[in-house]
Amino acid sequence: MSRVLIIGAGGVGNVVTRKCAQNVDVFQDILLASRTIDKCQKIAKRIKEQYGREIGVAQVDADKVPELVALIKDFEPQIVINVALPYQDLAIMDACVATGVHYLDTANYEPKDNPKFEYKYQWAYQDKFKQAGIMAVLGCGFDPGVTNAFCAYAQKHLFDEIHTIDILDCNAGEHGHPFATNFNPEINIREVTQVVRHWKDGQWIETPPVIEDGCVHFTFNYPEVGPRESYLLYHEEMESLVKHIKGLKRIRFWMTFSETYLTHLKVLQNVGLTRIDEVEYEGCKVVPLKFLKVLLPDPAGLGQNYKGKTVIGCVFKGLKNGKIEQKYIYNICDHAKAYEDVEAQAVSYTTGVPAMAGARLVLEQTWKGQGVFNIEQLDPDPFLELIAKNGLPWHVVDFVGELPD
Ligand code: NDP
Repeated sequence: MSRVLIIGAGGVGNVVTRKCAQNVDVFQDILLASRTIDKCQKIAKRIKEQYGREIGVAQVDADKVPELVALIKDFEPQIVINVALPYQDLAIMDACVATGVHYLDTANYEPKDNPKFEYKYQWAYQDKFKQAGIMAVLGCGFDPGVTNAFCAYAQKHLFDEIHTIDILDCNAGEHGHPFATNFNPEINIREVTQVVRHWKDGQWIETPPVIEDGCVHFTFNYPEVGPRESYLLYHEEMESLVKHIKGLKRIRFWMTFSETYLTHLKVLQNVGLTRIDEVEYEGCKVVPLKFLKVLLPDPAGLGQNYKGKTVIGCVFKGLKNGKIEQKYIYNICDHAKAYEDVEAQAVSYTTGVPAMAGARLVLEQTWKGQGVFNIEQLDPDPFLELIAKNGLPWHVVDFVGELPD
């Protein structure tokens, strides 16, 4: 009998919970806990209507370790899936160590006042997780997550040595709003407004943020959706991949943005609405970005009329049997099909399905170990098989052509 505690009832939480409910053979008892219990109840109600399954709901403030410990002790799960916000990662990890329960998340910890995407805070838990005899699986969404597994797969099956990796993330969807983000607006805008970094010959190289002059971009021809402008961006999975992929000389991350998105973001940045420090407004302290989040569409509610597809994958160049080869591994996810399955858009879907799959592998002990793991350190084969079975098929093709140098 497996029990899973899911924390966070947003766009991704909805997908993970429904996917766990669909995988009834492993997830027999499900508790969904979040800050606002109404959101948990809404998801539980739809699960009851769609699958006839009862799931539990609870209110929790995941910034508070004692509250989390009490909830875990009461429900006794074997794993906690954290799909709240990156700010809660360390509190939830502390609670898992205190109770001896496995942990899995989809985004690395960020201090509220410092939007740097670094694994150092969570890697520091290595000994604590080892001593407690439990496993922490970090970054088990799509990117990070499946992209790391694509790299592990390429290393295991396709190359003797991988020289370059380009991760390419395209959302060619239309949600019908003038400006909206596909996951939590605060976290998304913190990520996209950062100085960009990529890694080459052992060094991190900085280039301007995507909304500034001099940012690096090129047109990539994505399968099924065609040519899209793709911008160099810093993304957290590069930090672990440079440690774990042998012989790597360069890794970059590219994301597509529409002109409309970039223009809106530039204006918001210029007028100070993306600031993360407190400002005084009529005697109240306000963080402009948190205020902006309240005004923007809720990503969990974008699904219904979302059209188009996401295409996320990795292009590899390296050596196989002494010859240079290029391969492209990718997934295509249709927003409307994701909505049909779990009433969510494709960005929540491509994050929630892998989180469920990773948790399933830990519960089945297919993935096992003690300590803190990034996805490329775990066997990619059962994981990639499971996501394909659960709505995210993927493809491997020869890559013909050259990416910019
Ligand atoms: P949402 O904002 O839609 O959902 C976050 C949920 O967490 C909300 O229900 C929120 O509660 C809850 N929450 C926030 N703070 C607390 C707290 N202190 N205690 C309990 N619950 C809390 O975000 P998304 O679903 O879009 O994203 C979820 C996570 O997934 C994020 O960390 C994001 O970075 C990650 N992600 C990862 C991706 C990947 O590919 N690896 C891609 C996309 C997202 P409330 O409803 O009260 O606000």
